[in-house]
Order: sequence, then C-alpha cells, then structure tokens
Amino acid sequence: MLFSTRDNSLNISYEEAIIKGISDDNGLFVIKDFPSIDLERSIFSNASYQTVAKAVLSSLLSDWDEQKIAKIVDEAYNDKFDNDQIVPIKTIDNQHFLELYHGPTLAFKDMALSILPHLLKTSVELTKLNKKIVILTATSGDTGKAALEGFGGINGIDIFVFYPMNGVSDIQKKQMITQSESNTHVFGIDGNFDNAQSAVKEIFTNPAFNEILESNEYTFSSANSINIGRLIPQIIYYFYGYFKLVDQEIIQLGETINVSVPTGNFGNILAAKYAKLMGLPINKFICASNKNNVLTDFFNTQEYRIDRDFYQTISPSMDILISSNLERLLFYAAEGDSELVSTLMDDLKHKKAYTLPEPMKKHLEDFYGNYASEEETKQAINKVFTDYGYLIDPHTAVAYHAHNTYQEATKDTNHTLIASTASPYKFPNAVADALTLEKKTDVFKTLRAIAEKTSTTVPPQILDLTSKEIIHDQNIEIAQMEQQILNALNITKKTLK
Ligand SMILES: *Cc1c(COP(=O)(O)O)cnc(C)c1O
Repeated sequence: MLFSTRDNSLNISYEEAIIKGISDDNGLFVIKDFPSIDLERSIFSNASYQTVAKAVLSSLLSDWDEQKIAKIVDEAYNDKFDNDQIVPIKTIDNQHFLELYHGPTLAFKDMALSILPHLLKTSVELTKLNKKIVILTATSGDTGKAALEGFGGINGIDIFVFYPMNGVSDIQKKQMITQSESNTHVFGIDGNFDNAQSAVKEIFTNPAFNEILESNEYTFSSANSINIGRLIPQIIYYFYGYFKLVDQEIIQLGETINVSVPTGNFGNILAAKYAKLMGLPINKFICASNKNNVLTDFFNTQEYRIDRDFYQTISPSMDILISSNLERLLFYAAEGDSELVSTLMDDLKHKKAYTLPEPMKKHLEDFYGNYASEEETKQAINKVFTDYGYLIDPHTAVAYHAHNTYQEATKDTNHTLIASTASPYKFPNAVADALTLEKKTDVFKTLRAIAEKTSTTVPPQILDLTSKEIIHDQNIEIAQMEQQILNALNITKKTLK
C-alpha cells in the first residue's frame, strides 16, 4: 500500500498508483513499509540482472503474481539492450561506473521505461479499468524518447511528450521528433523543463479537464518519475551493482558502499535511498548537480530556493530547478507528517523557497551535495579518457567530478557506484569539445570524429537518425497544451461540457 506525500491517511494500491501517476491532492505516492531484501540469499551470488529484478519487484509488489512479474521482467530486459549483462560495470580504481545506458534510447530512462508499459498493463488488468490511457510526459530530453519507445504502438494508450524546444541536445530532439507510431504525440514548448513539468502537473490535477477526458472514456497517467512505477524499477540496479562488486570480490557481503548520482528531478538518487531502506548498505548518497546547483545549496544550507537563474548546460537532462522527487525524501524525513510536507511545498510554490525544519535534518545526513561547473564537466570527460581510455557522457562526468570532490574532502575509502546515465554519443558537441576535437559543421561528422578518437563505435540507433523522417514538427506555447491534447485525441468542442 502507498500514501500520498500530502495525505498520510491515504491507502492506495500499487496498481492504482501506477495508473494515476500523481495523487489528487497534488502529492506523490510513497511507499508505506519497505520490505527488506535478504542480501545473503544464495540466488544473488552471480545473479543475472533479471534474477535481481524479479526478487526486488516481487518483494515490493507482494500482492502481484510472482509468475506474472517474472514474465514482465523477461519481456522488459532482453535483447532490446545491447549488452547481455543489461547493466555492465566499468571499474576505475575504487569507482565503479554502473552503465545504465545500454537500452534502446541510450539513456538510463530505459531501465524504468522498458518495464513501465508492462507494469501499467498489469495494473489495468488488476483494477479492471475500462478506459483508454493518455500518458502525459514532460521531458528534459531523455525521458521523452524512452517513453515514446516504451509506449509507441501500444493499443489503448496515447502518449504525449512535451520538451523544451531550445533545451535539449540535437540528437535528443531528433530521436523524439522522428517517432513514427500513430499513438505518439510530440511537441516542443516555449519554456524550460520546470515549466513543462509544472504545466503537466496542473493538467493532471485540473478537475474540469479530467472530466472532459473521463467523459470521452480516457484517463490520465504519467511516464515521469513522479509515477512510482518509474522509481521501483530503478531500485533494482543498485542491488545488482552491489552484488556484482561482491561477485568480483571487490567488496564483502555486508560492506558499505557510496553512490554518486547525476541528479535532476531526484528520481534516480531517490531510488538508491529506497534501496537502502530495503537493506542495501549504502553509506553516502552523493547528489551531483550541474551549474543549476539548487540541490547542492539545499544539502549544504537546508534551504531550497528556486528564485535564481536557470542555466542551459552541456548536461541538459539535469537542467532543472524544481526537483519533484525531493518531496518524497521530505516525506520520509518528516517521518510521514504530510501536513508538514504540504506546508513546505506551499512555501515553494508561493514564496519560491522553504527551509528544512530542524528535526528533519538528521534524516538527511547520509546525503552530500556538490556540483560541477561547465568547465569542470569537460575536464572530467577529458581526464577520464586521457588517464583511463574510458569515454563518459557529460551527466556521468558531473557525478564523477562530485565524487572526486567528496573523496578529496573526506578521505572516505568506501567503494563507489557512479550512475552512468547516458551514452556519450547523445551529446556529441559537448563530448567533442571536451576531447578538444576540431569543430565540425555536421553532427554526424562529429560523431565519427569521436568514434575515431576514442576507438568506440557510434550506436546504430544514432546513425539511423540521419535517414529518419521528421514526423512531429510542432512548437507550441504552454497555454496551448490542453487544446493540443484534445485535438490529437479528436475530442471536439462539441463534446466539451
Ligand atoms: C534524467 C537524467 C538525469 C537525471 O535523473 P533524475 O532521476 O531526474 O535525477 C541524469 N542524467 C541523464 C542522462 C538523464 O537522462
């Protein structure tokens, strides 16, 4: 069962929460009691990704049929991934890059969005829902494509993606606007990710608009990490990474590790915290930000302030000031006091800031915040390649940098899992710049230059983009989002109440 962060008297099942995405009170669904995973179970020794996934999902979704979960896992994590291990690990000294980008769209969002459609389908079966589903997605670049790939072509579902028209990389944009299935709808909007996410949340919780949809036999759902169905699958890879370090005798079972996570909407790092609450021995959560370092300030000063400049950076998927999932950590730190969480969220909305009350601080002591400037991000890419012959993307570079800063400051010797969140080929201009390659006018020439310099190969999904037709060429204003949804669903004014 689940609560809402803004109503701890709520009792809602996983299947209902996965369909709804966000609670009617604007809160996010949170887990009531975390089951614990017994690390000593023999199945975890030399376990495949799928084995760990089945164990973690079955313990959380304890009311769901285990056979069904096993089937879903096998359908989600298969040869759609370009690596048999699903999540390979690259070790450099005591840092272990958890490569989460081997799925179809080359970013870690695939880890959850490959399985979310299956979780949603099962939820629809379990609740006997008799409506078509409209999925609204705000994206800072990677969620959009991963959601389109996961939900494209599925009967009974329409998926809408809204991306900041000037805020994503060329490759990210091309990946989205060439999506061909007729149930996919993609729009550039005249704002940044925060604007897109706020607008989507508002549409979700707008009673009048929901009524229009309901009367046309539709219901909303979300593919963003506000949906608990996105976070649950992300818990798996922290356990998996840990078991791999044990298999390789790098750590002993029970030994603590750190994790360093390049953070935007706070979903990925929150999943790591959830893993800890399920028994994974994590010492520190290194919350790594780019120049939009609102979270670094928060963990250092306990004050969250969004009345600040917004920057476009070379790690665009983290260009976010309002990290939605932090609300879930606050709920935990407030020991389930949903009134207190509501007050803080109201302050954020109306005063653009809130300060963490004293008693909550002790619950956040295992978090450490730091950030990388644009220059430091490029230096990190260059250094890791020059010293180790290993190529990382700008987001991963932010996490690498923050971890190094942490280690120098604290001399902490724990082994660290670094969440490696995207293929470097999604961000060719920044990567080429970091490697001091000569500037090319054509992005495909840049890709080839990177491949040549680093002796790696351009992923086929990226090469294919050259020949793909542009399907979605609409840029709209935020105020038009609702109307565009109605148009695409063929809901005419006449049917409006
Ligand atoms: C989404 C994304 C992030 C940020 O993850 P959150 O869960 O939003 O904190 C980091 N790196 C990449 C490449 C991403 O796509």
